[in-house]
Amino acid sequence: HDHSRRLREQTPKSEQLHERAAEVTPLGVESNVRSFDPYPFYVEETSGSTVTDIDGNEYLDFLLALGPIILGHNHPDVTSAVKAQAERADLTATPQRIAIEFMERIVEMTPSIEQVRLANSGTEATMHAIRTARSYTGNDLIAKPEGGYAGAHDYALMSVYADEEALGPKERPNTVSYGTGIPDVVEDTVVAIPFNDKENTEAVLREHADDLAAVIIEPVMFSAGCLKPQDGYHEFLRELTEELDIVLIWDEVMTGFRLGPASAQGRFGVTPDMTTFAKAAGGGYQVGGFGGKREIMAEIEPPEDEDAESWHSSAFHGGTYNGHPVSCAAGLATLDVLQNEDVYEHIDRMGERLFEGLQEVADDVGLPVNVQYVGSMGQVYMTDHEIRHYRDTWHANSEQYADWWREAAAGGALFGNPMQSERFFTTYTHSEEEIDRALSIAEDAFNEVNH
Ligand code: PLP
Repeated sequence: HDHSRRLREQTPKSEQLHERAAEVTPLGVESNVRSFDPYPFYVEETSGSTVTDIDGNEYLDFLLALGPIILGHNHPDVTSAVKAQAERADLTATPQRIAIEFMERIVEMTPSIEQVRLANSGTEATMHAIRTARSYTGNDLIAKPEGGYAGAHDYALMSVYADEEALGPKERPNTVSYGTGIPDVVEDTVVAIPFNDKENTEAVLREHADDLAAVIIEPVMFSAGCLKPQDGYHEFLRELTEELDIVLIWDEVMTGFRLGPASAQGRFGVTPDMTTFAKAAGGGYQVGGFGGKREIMAEIEPPEDEDAESWHSSAFHGGTYNGHPVSCAAGLATLDVLQNEDVYEHIDRMGERLFEGLQEVADDVGLPVNVQYVGSMGQVYMTDHEIRHYRDTWHANSEQYADWWREAAAGGALFGNPMQSERFFTTYTHSEEEIDRALSIAEDAFNEVNH
């Protein structure tokens, strides 16, 4: 059965565009995760909860740009703030007031952030947070969960989406580079820990305690779909890192400003030493950043007895586009709406309706499926195995997931993208009627792949 047939038939113009794109860019896409079979489709218009492709097909959007679109596409407040800022002042590489206002708001909203620096993506955020923590501790080693994605720089591309052969024993996962082009020596600067496994996490951290600068970890491991923290895992990690003097960095690139106004740390009541954020903080524009305790962020400043321009004795953080006024305007407008309207109540209620509904329709169809979600974010695993640890996700049938995704896309709903390791979202503009329509599309797609 060819599960991409319907999608192909509906998207002839996208197919042509993809051929054109493949001439000028590898895989025909600007970011590897946009590449999938049969070919990506090209969006021409976005509005609220929907995107429309170049062939005129409209899709109910739950991909939502991989997370940033928390208020719906083209939210009028965000769009008008962007336009007004672009007309008032564009990039100057001198500080602008709009960036201060945005940073003040981030500090006000985020429990762990006393001081903050802005960047342009989650990748930059985690890269600079790691450097700052290394500077603060004088140690090189960082720990991260196996299977977790924390950005596209070398230090984060370790033990990401690997299989059993590569990762080795589940008690002591190997450190393995994701893809080629990463120097072997980088592997010596990262150790992998098993998420949700307190005993083995503790063993790894204690063994390397003297060399560790930081643990960088997602509050909910959405980079492997949706692994919820269990049995007080984060409380345990908070205590242990405090005891061992290891900087605890929460990578809230995915969860920041999405799981609540105080992000996942507010929702779970655990305060890390440092936090990274991006995605929802910019409402669709390029925002990233990292922050934390004043004492740690002080690593970015030279010691008091040295000149302000003397950067040799401090951790460097710079960037032409940092605090871009248009991004800050978009971010500030987004945070305004998040603070002043019942956005979280709405997206969580839509999340419950969608993810509970997906489990129900899959059960009705008789397909073994395990739906996991927190608030407005979740994933459908094509297995009835429990989903607790990263290695549990290996039980899911990723081919069946991709087929289900393609059938649903052809039916008019985008449940993220076709990778089983991804996750998808609800947004402020989703209505109950749209969720119910999406569920009916999902049910048809479950039926198509149930054989
Ligand atoms: N950290 C996490 C947890 C992420 O999910 C991602 C991206 O999906 C990143 C970091 C990197 O962010 P970006 O794609 O903005 O570079």
